[in-house]
Amino acid sequence: MTTDESPCEILTSERYSRPCTAAFSESLAIAGSLTQPAPAEIQAREIHLGPTQKRHTLVLDLDNTLVHSTCCSSSPASEGRATYTVTVRPYVSLLLERLSPLYEIVLFTAGSDAYAEAMRRKLDPEGTMIVRALGRSSCIVTKEGRFVKDMRILADRELKHVVIVDDRVENFAFQLGNGIPVAPFMGDDEDEEIIYLIEYLEDLHAEDDLASVNRKRINLVY
Ligand SMILES: [Mg+2]
Repeated sequence: MTTDESPCEILTSERYSRPCTAAFSESLAIAGSLTQPAPAEIQAREIHLGPTQKRHTLVLDLDNTLVHSTCCSSSPASEGRATYTVTVRPYVSLLLERLSPLYEIVLFTAGSDAYAEAMRRKLDPEGTMIVRALGRSSCIVTKEGRFVKDMRILADRELKHVVIVDDRVENFAFQLGNGIPVAPFMGDDEDEEIIYLIEYLEDLHAEDDLASVNRKRINLVY
């Protein structure tokens, strides 16, 4: 492989500072094919986060971004309910400690609202670092049947101050400039992606218009 081929598939901090469309081409193709929601769809899912001291908001996906969950173990004690085994990605607690003073942190999963809330309590038991956990009821459902996390639902936040981290580009299809794609976490205990992400976000934090700076750096295009 020459250095020109798919450089973004390699886990290095360089992925955050050079065009990386190649590594996410399949996801980008899906993202580009999705139908924009009607304004009423977005309005129906509006969320007000309330007053904040933080200038910027960091939205974090859960599955395969911060954690890897495997379904299902069933035992007589579980009474037929699915029990998930959750592996937290290495350095996630460091990420929350380092970035919660800089960003207002919101979890956002296409999983159930109850799962979102349970994971918030698991990752931040004291409730001091994550301000809100959003689940499936906050996702836009496109005509194609995809659940998309549309940042326009954050009614009292400006889009230029919001970034979203997700392992699937199509999940933030309607705000590519706000998106930071990460390599999916499948349970590898030597995974170091979060270290690079922390460095990138600590650096990005100094900017005012996060979305335009991020758009230029990550350079995702349909
Ligand atoms: Mg995910």
